[in-house]
Amino acid sequence: MSNYYIGVDLGGTKILTAISNDKGEILKKIKLPTEAEKGKDHIIDNIVKSIENVMKSVDADSEKIIRIGLGSPGPLNLEEGIIYTSPNLYWENVPVVKILEERIGIEVSLENDANAAALGEKWFGAGKGINNMIYMTVSTGIGGGIIIDNKILHGVNYGAGEIGHFIIEKDGPLCGCGNNGCFEAVASGTALNRKGKYLASMNPESLLYKLVDGDFNKIDGKVIAKAAEMGDKLALGIWADEAINLGIGIANLLNIFNTEMVVLGGGVMNAWELFYDEMMKTIKEYAFESVYNSVEIRRSVLGSDVGVIGAIAVAMEDRLLK
Ligand SMILES: [Zn+2]
Repeated sequence: MSNYYIGVDLGGTKILTAISNDKGEILKKIKLPTEAEKGKDHIIDNIVKSIENVMKSVDADSEKIIRIGLGSPGPLNLEEGIIYTSPNLYWENVPVVKILEERIGIEVSLENDANAAALGEKWFGAGKGINNMIYMTVSTGIGGGIIIDNKILHGVNYGAGEIGHFIIEKDGPLCGCGNNGCFEAVASGTALNRKGKYLASMNPESLLYKLVDGDFNKIDGKVIAKAAEMGDKLALGIWADEAINLGIGIANLLNIFNTEMVVLGGGVMNAWELFYDEMMKTIKEYAFESVYNSVEIRRSVLGSDVGVIGAIAVAMEDRLLK
């Protein structure tokens, strides 16, 4: 008789749910809209529906499901299984673990979504066999998880690992968190796009300007990458700047955490070749030599499944650590 694990990646727009065997191999994955605007009960209904659907797909009754892992945006109380607030879900103080356990009759483990993703890469992705690792996702924002001695670093009230929000430029651009010059505010995909729009508007002779016919709203990471690949100096400069900002942020983290690996995910990594060399040069420049020499920087291998595979890893973690 086989046993199963279920992972749920709860996001503001979609719920991704997957069922795996006891090796962590995904057998079925489904995506449902969150429909957060319809309220808490509706979101819970959608989560339950998605869990029932994946169970049905492999003909598994609830006794065969060992545990469910739920990855959610924070802040959270992991011990009590509460999602405190979530602007994307319009939630406040929801005891989500208790509610789900009562509805489904299977034990649920809650984890912050970025930490879950870190765990996913550690057990099933780029970080296999690695005990000390930083996972960083660079897209609209910058998030991540820190794993030290095989364990996620949670902090005193589960707030550790907000790696997008240390300040690297005191008078830098305003961040979503209210501070200026956070790592996220200077190095995220949003920051990259903002720079691209501004510089293109100032340089109508640039290829970047011409690629969007002066319609700056169309400038995003893809366009900036395309212009750079075609040799546009302005776009190449934006990537060089991105490389340096990423490098400074990673060097800061490495000087503090001295991990064996950093795994980088998120949309910005699609332009890996355009910033990798310069980023590594910057890390080498700012990290302590022994720290730099002992780390490997790799791309995420789980792609857009990282959240749901991470949620499965959360469900399996007790077993994985044995
Ligand atoms: Zn911030």
